[in-house]
Amino acid sequence: MMRLGLIHVSQETNDFNPQLTTLRDYEAFGLYEGAEIAARMANAGQIGGHYRGVAETGADVETVPIIRAHAVAGGRIDLAAHRFFLDKIRAGLEAAGPLDGLALQLHGACAAEGIDDVEGVQAALCRDLLGPKVPIVLGLDHHGNVTRQMVEAVDAIVGHRTQPHDPFDTGRIGAALLVRLVRDRIRPAMAFRKIPLVTHQEQFLTRQGPMKVWFDRARAMERDPRVLQAAPFPMQPWLDVDEGGWTAVVVTDGDRALAERLADELADLAWSLRDDFLVREAVGIDEAVRMADAEPKGVVVLSDTGDTVFGGAAGDSNLLLDAMLRLKVRGPALVPMVAPRAAVRLTEAGEGARVTLPLGGETATAFFRPLEVTGTVRRLHGGKVPVSGYQDSEIDMGRTALFEVGPALVLVSELRGVGGNLPDVYRPFGVEPRDCRIAVLKTASNFQYFAPMTSRVIRADTRGPGQSDVFTLPWSRLPRPIYPLEKIADRSTPRASRGVAAQSARTARN
Ligand SMILES: [Zn+2]
Repeated sequence: MMRLGLIHVSQETNDFNPQLTTLRDYEAFGLYEGAEIAARMANAGQIGGHYRGVAETGADVETVPIIRAHAVAGGRIDLAAHRFFLDKIRAGLEAAGPLDGLALQLHGACAAEGIDDVEGVQAALCRDLLGPKVPIVLGLDHHGNVTRQMVEAVDAIVGHRTQPHDPFDTGRIGAALLVRLVRDRIRPAMAFRKIPLVTHQEQFLTRQGPMKVWFDRARAMERDPRVLQAAPFPMQPWLDVDEGGWTAVVVTDGDRALAERLADELADLAWSLRDDFLVREAVGIDEAVRMADAEPKGVVVLSDTGDTVFGGAAGDSNLLLDAMLRLKVRGPALVPMVAPRAAVRLTEAGEGARVTLPLGGETATAFFRPLEVTGTVRRLHGGKVPVSGYQDSEIDMGRTALFEVGPALVLVSELRGVGGNLPDVYRPFGVEPRDCRIAVLKTASNFQYFAPMTSRVIRADTRGPGQSDVFTLPWSRLPRPIYPLEKIADRSTPRASRGVAAQSARTARN
């Protein structure tokens, strides 16, 4: 009998969204402990993948689930949430009894108030508690920032293999690897290379373009039986942290030289493709809206790249709404809008009310200004919305109003939830997304939920906390030089941490 601990704590931080993420955000997506984790998640997401992966090995395994917490991407997590998870991890591992291994499922791009490397701290705590001999396999989102602290704390790192992600697959692969490390007493060798690169997300899909070339090479490396894992990590471009940048990770069955050589090869390949990763596809706002309006049939997806809720933006951009109203597009056009104050006001006004109010620009005020609009409250709904085909079965949107403004059906919500990225969130309001001409999605690459009804995807080059223009984002902590902010020719160019100077500047501001 093999006993494996299971911990899942994940949030992706966007440093340009000023709103802190709190425990309430995790609770909105389901915060579970102990037996409740298996009861709710045994077939879903990375946790479901773990159980499947363990079963497929045929080994006699008891999984000890400790904590499952997930929040949609957003601003840094507050210190209360950070301490809460450290306490839960500590108490859970202490109560678990002797473990033979740990499946540690984190994100890799989580930062807290004053702490850049949350997952590194969590992994180091697990190592401290388990001692040096118990294998730890760390599963990460491949948009994470792999740090030295993470690499030193764990035995192997597994990354998502595709974008859009397949967390189930990552959990399954991690579990299989962990069982193998325990059963075969493998002491793996892990090598990593930081790549001084930060690029926008328009080339992030792994089924095409340079990302496909890079990920395909990792899969090819894994055909060598000595290679346990080859993982590219193209860090998402809104994490402003010390040690930030892309990473290549290679884990072998103990062959240190092979791991080092392949990590170099994987890093060299990304570096050689660096200008291909920077190719832009998004078009200007007015042009994007005109193109969408000119399409003969819907649903035309208008990607609000700068305000990607799945990338941690606040969801309060009104730039596309403004253009739709100015250009008088034909509706109906679905527009999600995360705006707590407006959601409360519309709820109080009641169904059928005609309301004039400022909309948008409530949170990411460095990017957006409120837009005054007049419309009619069509339908109100409070709290959780059932969704299918997603990692959670219901999403808490808080108080939410369907607000009709000209051709736009604006879904004004108190909480961010999933923005409007899942068609299901409109259905409790009596709206069938399939019948609409345009849908604004708050994502730059997770179009899969609307895909069955989508006639065309148009990326709009909008500004915001997730914007494609990485040059004008207010970076303060990213180590420099980094391409393309600086034109460096060699990926080994020494980089200076700016953490100390930036940290004191941040403290001084507070
Ligand atoms: Zn990701």
